Amino acid sequence: MLVEIKDLIFTTDPKQALRMSRQLAALAALMLFTIASIYFSYSNMLKSADILLLDINLIFWAGLLLITLVIRSGISQRFPDPSMTMVQMLWCSIYILTLIYLLNDWRSIALMPYFAILSFGYFRLDFKEFLAVTVFCVFGYLFVIIYLYVNEPLRIHFDKEMVQLLGFAMTCAVMVYTGSAVNNLRVGFRERNDQLAEALRLNTRLATTDDLTGLYTRRYLMNMLSNQKALSERDDSDFVILFADLDHFKHINDSFGHYIGDIVLKNFADIIRTSIREIDYGSRFGGEEFVVLLVNTDIEQSKNIAERIRHSLEHFNFSDVAPGLHVTVSIGMASYKQYNSIQETLMTADNRMYLAKEQGRNKIVSE
Ligand code: GH3
Ligand code: MG
Ligand code: MG
Repeated sequence: MLVEIKDLIFTTDPKQALRMSRQLAALAALMLFTIASIYFSYSNMLKSADILLLDINLIFWAGLLLITLVIRSGISQRFPDPSMTMVQMLWCSIYILTLIYLLNDWRSIALMPYFAILSFGYFRLDFKEFLAVTVFCVFGYLFVIIYLYVNEPLRIHFDKEMVQLLGFAMTCAVMVYTGSAVNNLRVGFRERNDQLAEALRLNTRLATTDDLTGLYTRRYLMNMLSNQKALSERDDSDFVILFADLDHFKHINDSFGHYIGDIVLKNFADIIRTSIREIDYGSRFGGEEFVVLLVNTDIEQSKNIAERIRHSLEHFNFSDVAPGLHVTVSIGMASYKQYNSIQETLMTADNRMYLAKEQGRNKIVSE
């Protein structure tokens, strides 16, 4: 029940929730001004007018509720500022200017709420917007004073009001300055946040993918191996590790150059990628050594994949990059179930890869 009411007011979108909680805080603060206006009225501090204070308050609150509904409904999300800060600040200014007009003495007390209202601009407004709102407030006040001076001179001490206006304008100028400084901080903070997020993305990519081949890194593969170990202990499944090392790679580098060596590595990575399933993991373990993790399978089924990789490289046509170049690979393989230890499975696959080298290279050893 409580949760339902909470969602009804704040919605389930965190951004909307923040907007709504600020909105409710603003409404609570404005309610205090309305209560103060009622107090002024009862203390006979207001002009006895045909317009009733009640009407003014009703109109003001109708406007505020309309704005709140527009924000809550999500309609305002199409606006440049979904919190409608400017609109609300101007609406409140008009309300306060009306109170300033109605007050007989103590007119300057109604200036204080301005600072509370302007402080909401700190969350949102940039320098120009802040300046616009402030100029509206100061000139609005000037307009009320001049209007009173011309039409109801008995209700105003013009000189005193002008001094107050000057004080108000100066304080507003300081608020424009601090407000835009806060705004700059906010913008800078957001930019740095974006940069950090980008750096984190890059960092994660570098930690998980090998730059040259686009395969996973050794580090990432080791993590996936421990995940698989946990999985296989839970559901009794098996997985297989292929340890592949290119044959006579030093010789390829020496005869064709390092650049061609890199092209061979990339092409072999492509062969691995196209030979395994979506769910398997191909990694560059270091130099010209590659480790492939075949999940949810056993040695018998994996032999086909290893053979596909070996065969594809043996028959790969490098003639357009290096005429006369032929590359082969030696592969050792081991299944986890036999050893129940990642280290031992890896080591066995590695040892079998060396056995494949001893048996003349371009071979697969699985036992
Ligand atoms: P074997 O058949 O016994 O494996 O012979 P090999 O020449 O491949 O033996 P070894 O593992 O000693 O040589 C690996 C070579 O791979 C040495 C190194 O110069 C080269 N290498 C390692 N990383 C890279 C790389 O990123 N690019 C290139 N082009 N060569 C690399
Ligand atoms: Mg090697
Ligand atoms: Mg080698």
